[in-house]
Amino acid sequence: MKSRFGSLHGKVCLVTGASRGIGKGIALQLGEAGAIVYITARTLLPNETSEGSLVETAEEVELRGGRCIPVKCDHANDEDVKQLFNRIKQEQNGRLDVLVNNAYAGISDIFNNLNVPFWKLPPEFWDKTCNVGLRSHYVASVLASEMMVAARQGLIVNISSGGGIGYIFNASYGIGKSAVDRMAADCAVELRPYNVAFVSLWPGAVKTELLTEVVHSNKPGINDVVRMRRNWTGLYGLFISFIRRGWTEWLSKESPEFAGKAIIHLATDRNIMKKSGRIVWTADLANEYGYTDVDGVSPPNFRSLKVCLSLTGHTWLAAITPSFIKCPFWILAVMTHKF
Ligand code: NAP
Repeated sequence: MKSRFGSLHGKVCLVTGASRGIGKGIALQLGEAGAIVYITARTLLPNETSEGSLVETAEEVELRGGRCIPVKCDHANDEDVKQLFNRIKQEQNGRLDVLVNNAYAGISDIFNNLNVPFWKLPPEFWDKTCNVGLRSHYVASVLASEMMVAARQGLIVNISSGGGIGYIFNASYGIGKSAVDRMAADCAVELRPYNVAFVSLWPGAVKTELLTEVVHSNKPGINDVVRMRRNWTGLYGLFISFIRRGWTEWLSKESPEFAGKAIIHLATDRNIMKKSGRIVWTADLANEYGYTDVDGVSPPNFRSLKVCLSLTGHTWLAAITPSFIKCPFWILAVMTHKF
């Protein structure tokens, strides 16, 4: 029987925002799996003011035997982005197999303004969370789709989060994530006839450099990052409150490379069009495709009852609850109704 999975050897991938964090983890995994990986960010060389750089990511990919091409690119600047795509077109003869829209400019600003309501923030705060992180994903997707549609194949992945269905951190974060999910759904409709897939990928709480620093900083409000919605529409809020209570423990579980493993499997899945337009979760994909995180352990699945019970301190109940019991997608869909 023909395998459901192909190989990443010779495939051309672009990961935006890969000087650190989840983007770096994805680049490391794609490179190790044999792809030619273009990476972008504003920080090309190591320096004292920023955590990580493109050159460091590229060196790490190459140390693992991969091929990585760092390109300094500000995703707030459309000209930079056009030049990036022109370069890939020229160097790879028009080939681009995978685009990962990951660059995000707002993490530090979000954590510096926890518990500040949106009307007390300058309107420009919107741009910090929705320019590079939403608009930039659309711009890159337009340019990537031109190449992929011509080739009648390709995969675009938006890195999103559970903030797409319920309040987390602040208003503009959720607005951006919800729109990024919707972008995948709606663009997928138009790309389907051309065999190009577009999905939104939700990692769990990932042990990135910035998030680790923030959690250990004990900033005021850090234990309240996920505010529970107390009304009934917020059954999701109840679910989210489990996560809030176990935030620190939960954070230490998922590596930035876990999302990269998910993308390797998505990019080599011959049935990928079945997932196109959908939101997919890193932990669910690991269960479906059968892989673990880089340390050989499975990070907690956000939807698992066992995980929720254990994070809320119901250890004996968690111990006897089978791990396959998960919050069904239809319940999540009902919780996110907009009528
Ligand atoms: P991060 O550590 O802050 O990394 C963001 C990356 O984007 C960096 O490489 C940064 O590099 C780049 N970037 C920022 N502004 C840019 C610009 N104008 N042009 C080009 N590149 C730019 O963030 P992260 O935690 O990895 O988050 C990445 C995505 O994953 C976000 O959408 C986030 O919401 C999502 N996510 C994160 C978690 C988590 O637990 N961390 C969980 C779920 C979802 P430079 O600063 O060098 O430009």
